[in-house]
Amino acid sequence: MKIIMLGAPGAGKGTQAEILNKKYGIPTISTGAIIREAIKSGSELGNKVKAIIESGNLVSDDIVIEIIKKRLAEKDCENGFILDGFPRTVAQADALYDMGISIDKVISIEVDDDDIIKRLSGRRECSGCRSTYHVDSKPSAKGDDCEKCGAPLTIRPDDEPETIKKRLDVYHEQTEALKDYYEGKKILHKVCGSNGIEATTKSIVAVLEN
Ligand SMILES: [Zn+2]
Repeated sequence: MKIIMLGAPGAGKGTQAEILNKKYGIPTISTGAIIREAIKSGSELGNKVKAIIESGNLVSDDIVIEIIKKRLAEKDCENGFILDGFPRTVAQADALYDMGISIDKVISIEVDDDDIIKRLSGRRECSGCRSTYHVDSKPSAKGDDCEKCGAPLTIRPDDEPETIKKRLDVYHEQTEALKDYYEGKKILHKVCGSNGIEATTKSIVAVLEN
């Protein structure tokens, strides 16, 4: 089962991918997580990527494709995977096709921009183990500290309000074309993401098992 998850930043695609990962036993390949690892490593590529993200822009296709290609060649992707955060552009979708990877279903989680801005202002990340939380929907049992490792929770620079608005604009500008692309291949499925995590999962599962 090879799935692509589409959704604006904060639409909940990371959360849904994690749930499906457990349910179907296939890995979630999150570009965001892979990129943050690169930044943390302090490598030349990592520092370059860090500067791009903090200015509110998206990382170039060439860099992302290089990272994804290496990851999908690993053994745990043999029986399928869930792509979270890739492809973002038609050029990336073409690159995926050129790698010989045929996608079964593309799930687009649809949420209004206003809802997303509300959601993202509550998002927190552990400064130690990188676990993610939300002050309303997924609070840490230890308040401002991580319930798994005890390190303080932080707001990522790309979750600051001005950066969020810029990211949403960039997302819509690029993703409309991407949706058309997969609509043309008859594998695009739009799912409402405004009614809570459980309801969204239910809608996605209905799409995947039909
Ligand atoms: Zn932690």
